Amino acid sequence: MPGVSSELAQRRRTQVSAVTYDLALSVSAADSASGAVRVAFDRRGTGDVILDFRGTAVSEGAVNGVPWRDIGGAWNRHHLTVPAAMLRAGRNTVQVRFTTPVASAGAAIIRTKDASDSRPYLYTLLVPSDANLLFPCFDQPDLKARVTLHLTTPASWRALGNGALTRADTIAGAVTHHFARTQPLSTYLIAFAAGPWTVHTRSERIAPGGAPVPVSLYLRASRVREAEADTLIAMNARALRWLGTYFGVSYAFDKYDALLAPAFPFGGMEHPGAVFYNEESFIYRERPTTSQLLGRQATIYHEVAHQWFGDYVTMRWFDDLWLKEGFATFMAARLQATLDPQSNAWKTFYLRNKPVAYGTDATAGTTPVWQRLANLDQAKSNYGPIVYNKAPSMLRQLEYLVGERAFQRGVQQFLRQHAYGNATWQALLTSIGQAAGRDLTPWGRQWMLRPGMPIVEQHLDVREGKIARLRLVQRPAQPALSGAGAWPLKVQLRLHYANAQPVQLPVELRGDTTDVRAAIGRPAPAFVYANEGDYGYAIVLPDSASVAWLERHVAEVPDDFLRAMLWGSLWDLVREAQLDPVRYARMVIRALPRERDEQVAGTLLGRLVTSVHRYSDAAVRASMLPDVEALLLAGAADTSRSYGTRKAHLDSYIGLAQRPQSLSQLRTWLAGDSALGLPVRAPTRWALVTRLVSRGAPAADSLIATELRRDATTEGQRQAFVAAAAQPDSTIKAALFTRWFRDAALNEEWVTSSLRSFHDPEQQQLSRPYLVAALDTLPWIQQNRRIFFLGSWLGATLNGQTERAALTVVDTWLAAHTSLAPDLRQKVLQARDDLERTVRIRECFAGARPAR
Ligand SMILES: [Zn+2]
Repeated sequence: MPGVSSELAQRRRTQVSAVTYDLALSVSAADSASGAVRVAFDRRGTGDVILDFRGTAVSEGAVNGVPWRDIGGAWNRHHLTVPAAMLRAGRNTVQVRFTTPVASAGAAIIRTKDASDSRPYLYTLLVPSDANLLFPCFDQPDLKARVTLHLTTPASWRALGNGALTRADTIAGAVTHHFARTQPLSTYLIAFAAGPWTVHTRSERIAPGGAPVPVSLYLRASRVREAEADTLIAMNARALRWLGTYFGVSYAFDKYDALLAPAFPFGGMEHPGAVFYNEESFIYRERPTTSQLLGRQATIYHEVAHQWFGDYVTMRWFDDLWLKEGFATFMAARLQATLDPQSNAWKTFYLRNKPVAYGTDATAGTTPVWQRLANLDQAKSNYGPIVYNKAPSMLRQLEYLVGERAFQRGVQQFLRQHAYGNATWQALLTSIGQAAGRDLTPWGRQWMLRPGMPIVEQHLDVREGKIARLRLVQRPAQPALSGAGAWPLKVQLRLHYANAQPVQLPVELRGDTTDVRAAIGRPAPAFVYANEGDYGYAIVLPDSASVAWLERHVAEVPDDFLRAMLWGSLWDLVREAQLDPVRYARMVIRALPRERDEQVAGTLLGRLVTSVHRYSDAAVRASMLPDVEALLLAGAADTSRSYGTRKAHLDSYIGLAQRPQSLSQLRTWLAGDSALGLPVRAPTRWALVTRLVSRGAPAADSLIATELRRDATTEGQRQAFVAAAAQPDSTIKAALFTRWFRDAALNEEWVTSSLRSFHDPEQQQLSRPYLVAALDTLPWIQQNRRIFFLGSWLGATLNGQTERAALTVVDTWLAAHTSLAPDLRQKVLQARDDLERTVRIRECFAGARPAR
């Protein structure tokens, strides 16, 4: 069977232990790497031992020093079966020579070329299931191995691995870099990079109380002058020190280096000792906004937290993927909140995680946090908002439930107990439960194993100016999927008064209906909000009296975090088709000129664009556009506001521009290098070009070519590709759809970036014919593209549509594909949800004229 089945993994775990890999690879050739691995392990039992390998070829081999003559016959392109007859009890060694591809996409070793100086750069990306594409190994997270790497490259290249570089030998124009043996690593965490990298090194203390050690940042030579290398290294080191103290375990690997990887398909990857970050989101080509800076910091803290949760203690199998991802995101916020209290980190956590988590978890395609996984080659499907956004939200709820000190003690005990090993969610809840003196088994059953989430409705009865009754009623967002019964929830409820101190009440929800007795008899509040502080995980729908007050006064709520959540609850009413999106848009138009919080302003601008552009029909859109454009221009020009707020207004204007006078405004900005006092550089210049192209600008080719002459960098070339994909032309769309799959030299990240241009909702008549083909390719994408590609593919495809005709195409396709793999069906249902809501909202409020 292809891949690594959970049965194979379980059998092998009892059969094999104390694994080491001595891996020699030559990456001097352009499209293929040749290597030799020496796998050593202790063996129990009597059967054959199976190695995983799906590279290009295996050649000679030996087992315990005896030549392995039939190695070709032992390899079925997925597995290499070492016959029991060649093995012995106890220690064994297996040696294999092999080759593996090097390519821009679809290989374990990614090769990129710098457009500005033509230099090649290579790096690996093995997560979750590509270690066995790189070399023959036991590719499962719970067979950790010490790895010794020897990497041969052209002379003058540098190389980076998990272990420290110990020696470099130059022979006949090539150099072999030898790396120290590592601590035990899971195979998906093995990494190296090679190329003419420039290195920047600083001496940093990375263990609390430890001596300073050199920490390096590897960069492409062409980007050295733009990168804030000292700042980035210092941020990594600061996180390593603080987390070492919090976890009670110092950084557990021998050295720490980071690399900025070009065209990297993720935000970052946490390889022990060799963290890779996405170059493009770490180097700014124009002045960054606060949101961008906070995002970069959160990514660094996330990857550093993984050095403990993921690297030092690893999930036993990818069914517990949430364990590392949930912790990394939760700890990143905890770190930001402690090191930088001014940053209001839990507001950022709320804005970055909750809408995304709810956006998937309230759909018919959602899964439990713990996700059964039959085979490693389906592990990509386990990635998504449930592990990245719901899981950290669960940890925030758990910390609130048991208290910060008990939570920390439990986590420390868990890490000590499973040092350099593997663990499951049950082990974590046992440790935290013991520290808190509380049995968390029922909590785990509801939050780890049950799919879906609660919607909590507030019901308020007021009599003679006093609260007569306040009920919180919860129901599953997807009753058919989640089944009956309440989720255990602990929240902080706020009774807000316009001219008096608020009342804050902790409330535990145990059943479908919870009466808040402590509220009875108190004066009628301006509004009630049942999730202050965002400890609870639920879509909270306010009662009608609260909605009435908030519609008029939400902008006056002084606390930024609370105000962000209240705007979120009103938006949830829009998404439930209980509040007209035009009413929400009018509220935003009134509130935005006074909104001083950059993140809240950015969020409201996004919802304003969605209300006008997606949730409204053409007539309503046409009637609102003049007001909206005037607001956006005024916001961008307002020098009393932060740069990030002004920039968000400008970006929204560019994204909405469609009237002739607006498009000519974009051309003026492009010609003049500035807009309303804001400098216009790449990538904003490319946003202008892309928008003009998508609106059918004449001579699109020359518009793009002119910009490309100004910006001939790798990034400029990618942006030119994205702009070209925006052309409203059926011939161009047909050619691009084919090229996405046929052109092996096309980087996967470029394809991802171009999806939204191709599926511009304003061109949905042109892109709708590709809906069926896009769905038909899902099994191929699952096998051949990296972790996040399939979600981006589906999201862009379905978000490019807003009409019932498209929903019918998707539903007809689903009905006709009854044998579609369940994980793929779930992904389609997740992406379909927003299209269905869009159709429902548009039909529900069609013809409703905006009230001024
Ligand atoms: Zn992660």
